[in-house]
Amino acid sequence: MKIELLPSTFERDGSAARRQHLTAMTVDDAIAFDAGSLATGCSDAQRAGIRDIVISHAHLDHIAGLPLFIDDLFSTLEGPIRVYASADVIGVLEEHIFNWSVYPRFSELRNDFGPVMAYCEFSPGEEFAVRHCSVLPIQVNHKVPSCGFIIKDETSTIASTGDTAPTEIFWDIVNGLDSLDAVLVECAFPDELAELAEISHHLTPRALANELGKLERNDCEIYISNIKPTYRDLTVSQIERLGIDRLKLLEIAREYVWPRSGRPAG
Ligand SMILES: [Zn+2]
Repeated sequence: MKIELLPSTFERDGSAARRQHLTAMTVDDAIAFDAGSLATGCSDAQRAGIRDIVISHAHLDHIAGLPLFIDDLFSTLEGPIRVYASADVIGVLEEHIFNWSVYPRFSELRNDFGPVMAYCEFSPGEEFAVRHCSVLPIQVNHKVPSCGFIIKDETSTIASTGDTAPTEIFWDIVNGLDSLDAVLVECAFPDELAELAEISHHLTPRALANELGKLERNDCEIYISNIKPTYRDLTVSQIERLGIDRLKLLEIAREYVWPRSGRPAG
């Protein structure tokens, strides 16, 4: 499985900026998890290949690129863009985004080939199939209904918390998996903003350390994402000071592939 956290912004020289304003992660250039920067940060190959988009929650930084991605492809789509989301999230998208005022209701529109967008509703705790992967959504502890995901293909398993404050079920399920290649964990704010993190249901490095104390397995890599760009340097320095060896930052626009070379598949 290959994953990539798409860039949100670009430096003047055209290189991907390290700051993460928006969230969109691709799997094998075929599936997107969240669509914050999907329309603006994806490659041409990803734009051509991605027709399945799984949404964790309806906060703007996770969905901003969804209407634009569909709009860009509208006349060329030979089948609908499939949007996988909980009933709560679908309700928000229909009421507040695809409402004919902010953007067209693509779920009602067709091009020459047929419908351009279709919702695939999922329920937390119920695994579903997307392309060559299976996805288990797990309710996490965020300000609005939000899911983390366990993503599996034939050879690898990745877990991602998405946006969350301290949570329990996610870690229980992660601890019970047969195998796990990597877990991606959010850490939005520095410790100085613990109160804001609590109000907005995010983690700080101190809270992250507490969360990782719930991880009872040492066979997986750990990556941190979703660091708020304004506080990135401070937050990163505090994460590094935790002194957890296998903990790394999930770098933007870098391809991560599992299983790692040298390890047998399966
Ligand atoms: Zn959020």
